[in-house]
Amino acid sequence: MLIQPKIRGFVCITSHPQGCAAHVAEQIAHVKSKGPIANAPKRVLVVGSSTGYGLASRIAAAFGGNAATIGVGFERPPEAEKTATAGWYNTAAFETEAQKAGLYAKSFNGDAFSDAIKAEVFAAIKKDMGTIDAFVYSLASPRRTHPKTQEQFRSVLKPIGQDFTAKNLDTDRKQLVDITLTAANDDEVRHTVAVMGGEDWQMWVDGLQKEGLLAKNFVTTAYSYIGPQVTWPIYKDGTIGKAKADLERVQKELNKTLAALNGRAYVSVNKAVVTQASSAIPVVPLYISLMMKVMKKTGTHEGTIEQITRLWQQLSAGKPNLDAEGRVRIDEFEMAANVQEEIAKLWTQVTTGNIDTLTDFVGYQNDFLKLFGFGIKGVDYTKETSPNVQIPSILQQV
Ligand code: NAD
Repeated sequence: MLIQPKIRGFVCITSHPQGCAAHVAEQIAHVKSKGPIANAPKRVLVVGSSTGYGLASRIAAAFGGNAATIGVGFERPPEAEKTATAGWYNTAAFETEAQKAGLYAKSFNGDAFSDAIKAEVFAAIKKDMGTIDAFVYSLASPRRTHPKTQEQFRSVLKPIGQDFTAKNLDTDRKQLVDITLTAANDDEVRHTVAVMGGEDWQMWVDGLQKEGLLAKNFVTTAYSYIGPQVTWPIYKDGTIGKAKADLERVQKELNKTLAALNGRAYVSVNKAVVTQASSAIPVVPLYISLMMKVMKKTGTHEGTIEQITRLWQQLSAGKPNLDAEGRVRIDEFEMAANVQEEIAKLWTQVTTGNIDTLTDFVGYQNDFLKLFGFGIKGVDYTKETSPNVQIPSILQQV
């Protein structure tokens, strides 16, 4: 079939297998261009490994550090005339490249919040790796079923305390419109913390430790965002910010339980990038479009793979760039004063009429399409393509 993008709001409901493979290949090429990462972890688990920051983490571990990797994602497989989600094709492409490079790679597709997937992953580690040296927790999900109580949680992206009105970019119609987000109630905050906070990260690490699957000097990392004040009502001070604060609470707990192994837990504050998760957050697409314009001008623009390659280099060298609160900071180029001053100035000036001149909306759209394997050089989108691409290790499991 011919596979073209079908965009519905902030998602694209189709994805292109060869395009996704080309996107993965680009990321592998970037990591390789930076050379081998000395002292990198050799056996790595990534949860949320199929797209965005988690995919970049798996690629950096494998192709920068020569690591054996296990990845967990939650993606829709292909059907006869329906494409899989992009994360499915990314994982298939990643495994194919890993195999060619002689690297062990096994993937699991299912709900990482469940006890069942944890048990399957633990069994695979026990059988194939013995222990792991590193675990990256990179989930972004709108919902979670609690594995012990079965309570269903839904996360919301809302301000806390008072309603928030701000400029928002309607990416479908390329229009700036004011949106008002109503303040979350206590239950919505509780739900968002249950989905995006640290409880599940802790369950993974505790489970791995109980099963004796952690190597000495084990390192685990979860990802967070802080960003500038214009986004704080919806991000840092909003429901998602409460969940990120909970990650930091868990990080401190984990550092106590991992001490016996000389292990470390980190929260890494990454920069804003276009991913499926970030495009769903109100206000953020406008902020990213402005930020991309400014950072491309200052020559400091980075995507997920550039960010995570730097992170992996820092962690492997045992020298992460920590702030006063003990968080790893790889968002320093985004937060640089000159960048933020310029964004703040443009923020007050941007209107529907000048989107093309003041923002890098074209760059934003290109990055968005790329997430689904579209708009990539060298891929022939006029050619009939089968959506039926399988993930080698998952094919073996069934
Ligand atoms: P993403 O949407 O690209 O990736 C989410 C991943 O989680 C995918 O692999 C998906 O399959 C997986 N997933 C979702 N629900 C799952 C489930 N129930 N079971 C198993 N896997 C599941 O998101 P992202 O932007 O890369 O976000 C990853 C982390 O990085 C999040 O913690 C996010 O807050 C953080 N972060 C993102 C940004 C940004 O700008 N995108 C910035 C800083 C930090």
